[in-house]
Amino acid sequence: MYEILDKITKGEGTMEDINALEELAMVVKETSLCGLGQTAPNPVLTTLRYFRDEYIAHVKEKICPAKKCRDLISYVIDPDKCTGCTACKIVCPTKAIEGELNKVHVIHQDLCIRCGSCMDVCRFDAIYKVTPPLKVDTKV
Ligand code: SF4
Ligand code: SF4
Repeated sequence: MYEILDKITKGEGTMEDINALEELAMVVKETSLCGLGQTAPNPVLTTLRYFRDEYIAHVKEKICPAKKCRDLISYVIDPDKCTGCTACKIVCPTKAIEGELNKVHVIHQDLCIRCGSCMDVCRFDAIYKVTPPLKVDTKV
C-alpha cells in the first residue's frame, strides 16, 4: 500500500493503482486477526471515500490539489510582493534563490528541492506553491 501511495504522490500512479490500493486495503482490513491490522488501512479507505477526486487528480492530471506532494508542486516568488529582503536566499539549502538586496528574487527550479524553508521565512507572503510543477529548467 505504501508503494502504491508513493507512486501516486509522485505523479506516477494509474487508475489501476487506485483500484488495487482500495482492494488491498479492504483485504487487509477483513483478513487481519488483530485490531491493529483491521484498522491500519482506515486512513487509506477513508481518504479514498471522501477525497477520491484528489487521488484521481494526482493520477490523471499529475497535480496535487492540496499542494502537499513535493514532486507535484513548485515554489514561486511573486515579483509584486517580493521586497528583496534576502531572507529566503539565506535559508535556501541548495542556493536555488537568486537576487540582490532590495531587488526581486527568483527561484531556479532546477536547483529547488521543494523543502519549503523559503516560504516559511518570507514575511511578505511573496512565495507561493503551484501545481503542476513548473518545468525544471524554468527561471521564474
Ligand atoms: S523572503 Fe520573501 S520578500 Fe524576502 S526576498 Fe524572499 S521572496 Fe522576497
Ligand atoms: S523550497 Fe527549499 S530548495 Fe526550493 S527555493 Fe525554497 S528554500 Fe530553496
